[in-house]
Amino acid sequence: MYSLDNAYSKEEVLDWEKRVKKNLGDAQTTFTCELKYDGASINLYYKNKKFNKAVTRGDGIQGDNVTANVKTIRSIPLEVKEFPVQNFEIRGEIILPLDGFNQMNQGRLEAGEDPYSNPRNTASGSLKLQDSAEVARRPLDCLLYQIVGDNLPFKSHFEALAQAREGGFKVPETIKLCQDVNDIFEFISYWEERRHDLPYETDGVVIKVNNLNHQDELGFTSKSPRWALAFKFKTEQASTVLNEVTYQVGRTGAITPVANLKPVELAGTIVKRASLHNADQIEKLDVREGDTVFVEKGGEIIPKIVGVNLSLRLEDSRPLKYIETCPDCGTKLLRQDGDAKHYCPNEFGCPTQITGKIQHFISRKALNIDGLGSETIELFYKEGLIKNYADLYDLTIEQIIPLERMAEKSAQNIISGLEASKKIKFEKVLYALGIRFVGETVAIKIAKHFKSIDQIQKASFEDLIAVDEIGERIANSVIDFFTVESNRELVSRLKATGIQMVLDESDVTHESDKLSGLVFVVSGVFQVFSRNELKKSIETNGGKVSSSISKKTSYIIAGDNMGPSKKTKAESLGVPIITEQDYIEMLGQDE
Ligand code: AMP
Ligand code: ZN
Repeated sequence: MYSLDNAYSKEEVLDWEKRVKKNLGDAQTTFTCELKYDGASINLYYKNKKFNKAVTRGDGIQGDNVTANVKTIRSIPLEVKEFPVQNFEIRGEIILPLDGFNQMNQGRLEAGEDPYSNPRNTASGSLKLQDSAEVARRPLDCLLYQIVGDNLPFKSHFEALAQAREGGFKVPETIKLCQDVNDIFEFISYWEERRHDLPYETDGVVIKVNNLNHQDELGFTSKSPRWALAFKFKTEQASTVLNEVTYQVGRTGAITPVANLKPVELAGTIVKRASLHNADQIEKLDVREGDTVFVEKGGEIIPKIVGVNLSLRLEDSRPLKYIETCPDCGTKLLRQDGDAKHYCPNEFGCPTQITGKIQHFISRKALNIDGLGSETIELFYKEGLIKNYADLYDLTIEQIIPLERMAEKSAQNIISGLEASKKIKFEKVLYALGIRFVGETVAIKIAKHFKSIDQIQKASFEDLIAVDEIGERIANSVIDFFTVESNRELVSRLKATGIQMVLDESDVTHESDKLSGLVFVVSGVFQVFSRNELKKSIETNGGKVSSSISKKTSYIIAGDNMGPSKKTKAESLGVPIITEQDYIEMLGQDE
């Protein structure tokens, strides 16, 4: 796969068009204009019209095989019907649409995790994940822009893409056929203005010679095709005055500095606030109150400050002093090794943390309590009715009715909403508890592995990190949570109300109990199963998958290229190493 020559001005586009015409002699040619989709490039291979494999661009020559992960993207057809070619390669860009990206970040913020910085990096990072089930949960999409193959029956690029669309591939309708350079300029101007109305990010326009014979004739330079050119949009920036830095406290106590700006227009919206992330970021940029700063829109909802206009710095300006105490409760802030953020340790006394935790508990992805909203939680807290989420279940209609803006009906709704929440599944309850780093996905993993709150509470650090894809940071956080007496008390109060504290096993796809009681470690590459299929097969047959070998491991299923350290460890602990075939036989046996 190649890269593209870039143009930053209309002159450069004109120069390129002249060169193309000169190279083609007198031949008339048309062009296509497409948006330059900002994601991770991908090559999809089809054999006998069936999806066969997906490879990333890598260094241009050697990419990574990411077939299992790409298979989870629903808009990619596993089989093409209306298509005139049997075997071909189709190139495109894996993207993360903005809506989905923002939703993922919302989830991370709710779990007390740092948000991802932009959709492009998150899309390309997603392709590298080990766990395809996790990839499947990410709202990735794939936009296609080129078909490659021998003796293709298409005359033009435009026609080829139209056929690809017929065949079921997602080819954006924004592609346009252009007769001359004026059409090209029109396309560029149009999208320069409207690029932010698109559901995904674009960083420019790709102009291509339309006729495929002409493309062949023009060929390639050492690094890029002569028949294509990428026009890059300017990154949108605005400059404005930073009035004041304020600080927000999250539900886990993490502090986020926020720049309050003199309102300025940026990419069609009025910007008043920008994120400064953490103390390091402030120090790195050396931003000060009163400075004139440059703001840019990345993929995030809130824009960011990228620099300071030093020539406009006020004479009496002073470096910003980061706060040392919580803006909400006055407690001295802490910062742990390796953590970018300061946090307020007053977990149980800091009002924003207290209400934040309850608001998280009732939120849509957690216990999803009808009739209760964030403002009502603040009201209840202010009135002294609740201090934690378990208190919610002690509320009575009589307590609620006299409150501001409440009436018999709304009070009744709240009580029945709370009653209904007792049926919410255990994995959501676990997420609702608000354990740091335990987001939705992690909660599901832990719930499925341990099956009940009692087991989770009893789990040791080793038990926790043995769960597939649970790392030390999460394990420590779970242990810390249950070490706190008041947390254990909250959990037992919730349990007493009848809230689900055990996994509903009928939910989990279940094939058999043949492997019940057995713990497997999977290592290497397999013939019949992909690694993830193998793990899934173990679980649906009642077994458990662990990521590290210990005395509790029953078997190691070894494929090709099993890690040598795993091998040594298995031998020293006397854990039997079996092959994929042995495993299949084990499953085949009748009890
Ligand atoms: P660059 O990495 O800046 O050299 O740009 C080349 C990359 O742009 C290609 O590898 C593609 O992944 C990407 N790209 C995005 N949209 C398009 C498009 N419509 N046509 C061709 N390439 C595209
Ligand atoms: Zn505080």
